Amino acid sequence: MTPKTPVRRTPWPDSSSRAVVTPLQPSVVYASESPDALDAQYDGRAPGYTYAREGHPNADVLATKIDTMEGAQGGLVVGSGMAAVTATMLGLLKAGDHVVGGNQLYGRSMRMLAEELPRFGIGTAMADPTDVAAVEAALTPDTRLILVEVVSNPTLRVSDIEGIVNLARARGLLLAVDNTFTTPRGFRPFDHGADIVIHSVTKLLAGHSDATLGYVALKDPGRRKAVYDTAVTLGLTPSPFDCWLAERGLYSFELRYDRAESNAAALADALAGMPGIRRVLYPGRRDHPDHNRATSLLGDRGGNMVSFEIDGGRDAANALVRAAADIAFAPTLGDIGTTLSHPATSSHRALTPEARAALGMSEGFFRVSVGVEDADLLIDEFGIAIAAATG
Ligand SMILES: *Cc1c(COP(=O)(O)O)cnc(C)c1O
Repeated sequence: MTPKTPVRRTPWPDSSSRAVVTPLQPSVVYASESPDALDAQYDGRAPGYTYAREGHPNADVLATKIDTMEGAQGGLVVGSGMAAVTATMLGLLKAGDHVVGGNQLYGRSMRMLAEELPRFGIGTAMADPTDVAAVEAALTPDTRLILVEVVSNPTLRVSDIEGIVNLARARGLLLAVDNTFTTPRGFRPFDHGADIVIHSVTKLLAGHSDATLGYVALKDPGRRKAVYDTAVTLGLTPSPFDCWLAERGLYSFELRYDRAESNAAALADALAGMPGIRRVLYPGRRDHPDHNRATSLLGDRGGNMVSFEIDGGRDAANALVRAAADIAFAPTLGDIGTTLSHPATSSHRALTPEARAALGMSEGFFRVSVGVEDADLLIDEFGIAIAAATG
């Protein structure tokens, strides 16, 4: 007789002690005791999960942790940073509404404003967030929401958040802050009057370049419900495994961030003294164009991002990347290790050379996401690579 295949699932073994690590729960469905019990769950009278697209424990555990860091309640974890931007826009806006975004937003956020939202009848405009008068000039009677980042990519300009908060309040507009670069350790948007906080958890919060996730929190519970419903309907659900990895990464976030930040400050100062360097951009340095605002908004938190420009064009850029072979040349940020990106061939490749020049990005312009390795080693590696490229 052939044995029957054991397709029925076996109960989880009992243990009088409990695991210290959050369990990974990949179950898509949850079995209920009775129609009455399911009814109670859907009505919100009983806690629990029904179907993973609508929520699962690994997402909720992660969301609660980021809520604590941001001073938020009921934040939502979604499948990517862009899913968080999408859920915010499509959950809160309708055809005929208008959005104003910073003119140096993350590339895909800019593209959402430039190309996607207009297809659905949502008007958009981009304005310089370091200049509140420019943001005000971009508003129309239909504007409902302003989206900004605190520190811009890749020139690390610091937005006039206080001015924009006052403007949004005076005009009754929602202010969404993408806090990915600054992280809650550098800046807490809700403490400054923002209505919505967005993160690409993929970056510094998860910190190991092995999970793609986003987070959005809203102050207003009604709007939170609207964004949640849109996220569930559009299928922006995060993977339980990614949530589990990000939770694991989050435990070391403070240590990683502080170390990466002090490395970044040291690297910025070292770069500024090297031959072949035209300029260094770091919000914590006195020569940064927004240094005073950085100090008042971020205190002594300069962050882990440093940008610099070398002499020579594309040839020098190629030589630098080849010579810095141990530093990953990769268009991301927030990894545990240092990564280097070249905006002209990656994040800002869609712009014309003239438009890039207007934003201060030549072929010799690089952005560094500084990691947690030894600072002296890092400074040596950059010194050798820059000498090889420009010497
Ligand atoms: C990476 C990034 C995003 C998008 O996040 P994904 O997780 O890649 O979708 C949004 N905003 C900022 C500032 C980012 O750096």
